[in-house]
Amino acid sequence: MKPAVSRALQGAALSALCLVAPFASAKPTIQITPPTGARFLSGQRFDLRVEGKGTGPFSATLKIDGLAVPFSSGVQNSLETDGVTTAGFGGFNRRGYINIEPGVHKITATFKDATGTSTATSQFEIVDVGGAGQVKNVIIMLGDGMGLSHRTAARLVRYGSTAGQPNGYLAMDKFPGTGLVTTASLNSVITDSAPGMAGYVSGTHTQNGQEGVYPANMTNPFYYPRVEYLAEFMARQRGASLGIVSTADVEDATPAANAVHTGNRGAGQGIVDQYLDESARTGLRVLMGGGRRWFLPSSEFGSSRGSGNDYASLPADVQAAWGVGPGAIDGARNLIGDFQAAGFTYVETATELSGAGAPNKLLGLFGYGNMNVAIDKIAHRRDAGSDAGQIVEDYHAPDQPMLDEMTNTAIKVLQKNKNGFVLMVEGAHIDKQAHFMDADRSIGEVIEFDEAVAVAQKFAQTKGDTLVLVLSDHECSGFSVIGALTGGIANLENLPSDAGVTDPATQPGRQKVVGVYDSAGFPQYTIEPDGFPQTFDIDNKILIGFGGSGDRFEGWLGKPHPVIDSLLPNSIKAELAGAGYVAQPYQREESAFGFFLRGQAVGRDQAVHTGSDIPVSAYSKNEAWRDFVGVQTNTDIFFKISQAVFGPGLF
Ligand SMILES: [Zn+2]
Repeated sequence: MKPAVSRALQGAALSALCLVAPFASAKPTIQITPPTGARFLSGQRFDLRVEGKGTGPFSATLKIDGLAVPFSSGVQNSLETDGVTTAGFGGFNRRGYINIEPGVHKITATFKDATGTSTATSQFEIVDVGGAGQVKNVIIMLGDGMGLSHRTAARLVRYGSTAGQPNGYLAMDKFPGTGLVTTASLNSVITDSAPGMAGYVSGTHTQNGQEGVYPANMTNPFYYPRVEYLAEFMARQRGASLGIVSTADVEDATPAANAVHTGNRGAGQGIVDQYLDESARTGLRVLMGGGRRWFLPSSEFGSSRGSGNDYASLPADVQAAWGVGPGAIDGARNLIGDFQAAGFTYVETATELSGAGAPNKLLGLFGYGNMNVAIDKIAHRRDAGSDAGQIVEDYHAPDQPMLDEMTNTAIKVLQKNKNGFVLMVEGAHIDKQAHFMDADRSIGEVIEFDEAVAVAQKFAQTKGDTLVLVLSDHECSGFSVIGALTGGIANLENLPSDAGVTDPATQPGRQKVVGVYDSAGFPQYTIEPDGFPQTFDIDNKILIGFGGSGDRFEGWLGKPHPVIDSLLPNSIKAELAGAGYVAQPYQREESAFGFFLRGQAVGRDQAVHTGSDIPVSAYSKNEAWRDFVGVQTNTDIFFKISQAVFGPGLF
């Protein structure tokens, strides 16, 4: 059966089929980029590539709708082809291609080696935009890893409920339009944050671990075929600005997947360099989060700069087509100084942020790696007189802003550009703490994130031209509200250790205190004026199960210390380890009294992302929010945003 074209084109999984060895094994393989299923806006820039594996010398041809398209790099009948392709492969590129004809287009390519010629075809669709858009500013509130149950848990903790009715709703709950979003990447139903985010702002499914590029066999991940991001497109078409705000290290996948093109989400130094080096093209005016380690010269404390994970000599056709410089491997670079020289005001504490006003451009780096989680920042604010023993002190970042404060300042800066802006605000630790199965910290993150959502909505309420979307890149951990504690906290604290209970015939004591169904009742937390619970350890606290669990001890009590996460400089990781912080959930101090749960996932250390759909909530003063109701894919979101901004098209 032949499915309808538009459906077929949405099937990104088909892309793998483009890798074809048609007949005898003698012929070379051939792969076309973009793969079948790709969709682009009319006028959106992307790279084309024909790649094959075989016995050189290599040659290739490329046609679109039957017309020959010249390559911008790749020497015909040569071994080295474009000079940046992995040995054994040949690669031919057409960088910075633009097509403005709405509809389906057919790519035909040949790849020839010493043994013969292979032919392949691929299809992409151009989606029309044009006419009258309703939206000038786009704010994407990205709760990383935030599934339905994270939202439910935060609502229950923050507001409680009475006789079945919530006593209040989260700001995102009150948005008029809510729908569901599928989260698959180019190569899996389970995505990581890089393609998860990139899908929303490029319309393209990218491969896990990659952002703003298609996969390729090339010598440096920064050379991979690029796809233009929403902010880049809006900057080029409209002169719009870009703001990126995160509680993570700004090098992390979600922030980077708005402005950086790389096949390696872990390429820290190259990623942060690209933020600045391509900022004229992306419109970047606000960059806030953690990650100071990448901005400090390699000689300074806490620096993670060096000679690895960087790029130099971007291919000439990339430079020409995308309007960028060659790059450099520069461990000694003072990137903060370079940002300042480019007109950015720099701040590194909450105090400095609140005094910054609304500069034209703003760089804020509030931690060496990831920022601290909300409840650890709040603990310090509640006890500001005593720094000793504070987690934020241990992280060398005692004075960190909350996400709503960062969001508020970001909007002040961005709204100075009358041509509009894209702002992405990430609540990063919803995901990271769910990975560590630290339920209380993850819920605290949703509460912090929702305060930032309220700030974004308040701005949009004063503007008829601003769209606010609450999204998540994927669900993390199979987070579920499974019940509430029975018997009280004092009882729980006094239970003997279950750590040795592994016989299936013996029920661990801590399993017996999980009140399910009727016993769960309606937990009621005491909320402080700062918006967070006085404590998560109330007598009938809600309890969370993890469907994508890693190995852990579960004691149900709040965890005194966070697990050391990977995005910190090694020097600080070593200090934390020395101070008794653990590197994996199963090593937690709760092992003294919790019961051991073996995770289902292949890695024992962390809970994993799941393939669950995530909720989207949309707000705008005008009718733009209506497009986001229903079930849609992550890349559909991009086209809906774009059509809200540029008009639904005349085709
Ligand atoms: Zn994650």
